Amino acid sequence: SPSTSSSTTDVKKPIIVIVIGMAGSGKTTLMHRLVAHCHETGKRGYVVNLDPAVTNLPYGANIDIRDTVKYKNVMKEYGLGPNGGILTSLNLFATKFDEVVGLVEKRAPEVDYVLVDTPGQIEIFTWSASGAIITEAFASTFPTVVTYVVDTPRSTSPVTFMSNMLYACGILYKTRLPLMLAFNKTDVTQHEFAVEWMEDFEKFQDAVECDKSYNANLSRSLCLVLDEFYQNLHNVGVSAVTGAGIENFFQTVDSCGKEYMENY
Ligand code: GDP
Ligand code: MG
Repeated sequence: SPSTSSSTTDVKKPIIVIVIGMAGSGKTTLMHRLVAHCHETGKRGYVVNLDPAVTNLPYGANIDIRDTVKYKNVMKEYGLGPNGGILTSLNLFATKFDEVVGLVEKRAPEVDYVLVDTPGQIEIFTWSASGAIITEAFASTFPTVVTYVVDTPRSTSPVTFMSNMLYACGILYKTRLPLMLAFNKTDVTQHEFAVEWMEDFEKFQDAVECDKSYNANLSRSLCLVLDEFYQNLHNVGVSAVTGAGIENFFQTVDSCGKEYMENY
């Protein structure tokens, strides 16, 4: 289609931002902050909630999985517990995901960012079919980036940090999309330690090896894997509660959007 833009570095809009992370890492609070920031700065956001089990959504969603799939009914109907109920709800919703992308396409000319909240079940994106269907439906149509939200105060132990990074690594491996880490809750704990560990492989390895509960050879190998992984991602410190770092968050999303345009 003809373009009025003269710049070739412009990223096609909207950029899809899929927010993934452990339960309690602050995805929904961050979404609320991102939506508020869009309102304040004149960026045009479109909001999708993919968490079928959330009871209280602090932001208004344009598309909400809960309007289509009743998670409690899914649990009863399929005889599932909460975790299986969430996974099955996502699988049911994924079958209609082309309709979701269609709705976003209609609104695309007037939208800058599509913000997507997800449940804390990371395995949806590393293991279940619905995660792959959802990310591929977005990524085949728009520049798409994944934000992995880290609970910074809960990741200060090197082994916990390592295991959290291995989850994030699995998401990068599975989705093959530009990935940014959002170190959240910096109002409680600053994320400098994490940046230091990611920038200096030996500092991270020393820290991990101080933890005697880990096999030294295994941890050395994992540190090497993660060192390679860190080369492929962006990171930003944020506080969903205070709003610190949110400007930088959107700049990083834009860089990831460019990366998508160059590589995908
Ligand atoms: P989700 O399960 O990943 O969606 O996490 P929520 O957004 O529901 O947040 C989980 C808890 O972390 C809530 O009690 C939030 O108030 C808290 N939380 C989220 N972001 C921040 C933050 O930036 N700073 C602090 N101190 N708490 C936060
Ligand atoms: Mg949530």
